Amino acid sequence: MSQRRKTQLAFDPHLERMVAQSDPTGRMKAKLSGSFYAFDAYFCELCENQTEYSVVTNSPVVVKKLKRGNAKLVPLTDKMIESARARSLKVAERYRLALSGKYGPYEVGKMLMRYCDSTELRADYSYEGFLEHIEPKMRLSEHSRHGDLAWPTRLSGSDPNGPKPSKLYCENHNPRRSTESRRAYQRDRRFIWEYRALIEQIWSLCINNLTRAHWDIEDQVYVRREAYRQVQAIRSSASMIHDLLSEGTLNQSEIARKLGISRQAVSAAVKKRAQKKVRRQES
Ligand SMILES: [Zn+2]
Repeated sequence: MSQRRKTQLAFDPHLERMVAQSDPTGRMKAKLSGSFYAFDAYFCELCENQTEYSVVTNSPVVVKKLKRGNAKLVPLTDKMIESARARSLKVAERYRLALSGKYGPYEVGKMLMRYCDSTELRADYSYEGFLEHIEPKMRLSEHSRHGDLAWPTRLSGSDPNGPKPSKLYCENHNPRRSTESRRAYQRDRRFIWEYRALIEQIWSLCINNLTRAHWDIEDQVYVRREAYRQVQAIRSSASMIHDLLSEGTLNQSEIARKLGISRQAVSAAVKKRAQKKVRRQES
């Protein structure tokens, strides 16, 4: 039995048309569906940047639909920005009063539910945090009153004949994007297991110390950036670690101290070395 694929209309900035785009299926659908690891869909598989796809889906545009499927972008004017600012200030003022208890014990919670995304708000419930959070939303809502909201089919400024936005990699790592990104992909792809192992290790350290939270997107970025940095260190010091291990005089912590990298990085390199040995024996 054939299953009908769901489609939705998206705006193609090069063709200036609305085009049908099918929803992801199979592995991609699983990756993008909200699970415990919902953040995995958001990040590049190899670094802390967003995937091209999530950049596109997080940057809606406002378009005016014309005849025969054509469409054009509606520019954001100063007037729209001003009126969004005025609306934000008004709502934020109510929030400030709600914080002082003027509207009873539930109003703050209600307003947060209505206007905020808890992941983006990052547990900052102050007046300033609230205002900063709602202003871009008000701007988009003001902007969308002058047309229809749509999601672009491509990254802005990308080659019209270039590949579709990748759901796995960022612009710097998409092997189809450019020669440099292909080179970066090939270079970092070899260390993907170390990268993943380091992310887990850093998380378990952070959770033990209660220093970082899984739900905080900035912390998610931090952990990935740190893992990426350590992967780069492994890459450059892989041969040095190899030499020091072969000498057999220093233990892992001593090697880490000597090379100025974390013990986890050395242990990841040791693991990789052991895997290589097994593979060599098998072949
Ligand atoms: Zn990347």
